[in-house]
Amino acid sequence: MEKIILHKLAFKKIKKIAKLMFEKEEKEVIGFLIGHFKDEFIEITDVIIPEQSANRTSVQVEEEISLVNALIKSNKKGTNEVSVGWFHSHPGFRCFLSAIDIETQIYWQRVNPRNVALVYDPLNKEIKAFRIKKEKDSVQEIPIPLKIQD
Ligand SMILES: [Zn+2]
Repeated sequence: MEKIILHKLAFKKIKKIAKLMFEKEEKEVIGFLIGHFKDEFIEITDVIIPEQSANRTSVQVEEEISLVNALIKSNKKGTNEVSVGWFHSHPGFRCFLSAIDIETQIYWQRVNPRNVALVYDPLNKEIKAFRIKKEKDSVQEIPIPLKIQD
């Protein structure tokens, strides 16, 4: 079964920014996951935190995905890293995908079906990863096993 390897360094960044955004403004944070798609697993080696905007729309998501790929190209020459999905925080309300998160994830999977959504709750110290399985009239949240590694 496919799993996600989240490198400690990337996890540290997620924890730090999620905590900061909550303590400073009681807000969620959203960012991009950088790494590699391997045959058996997805490796997350880094994150990119863009300017935070108040509300997300699908158009914005599409713009952001191309932006993040441009960013990786310019900042990480020679590493072959790509965007492997996105993350955001749910301060105090556990890890799941809300209706708008599902919509956002559908866009990500349209770009690449292997893209993942990572959710982190800095208060409950919980982290989970998901993908969406969309069938005719149902949308299902599929959890993906996640391992934190050095
Ligand atoms: Zn959410």
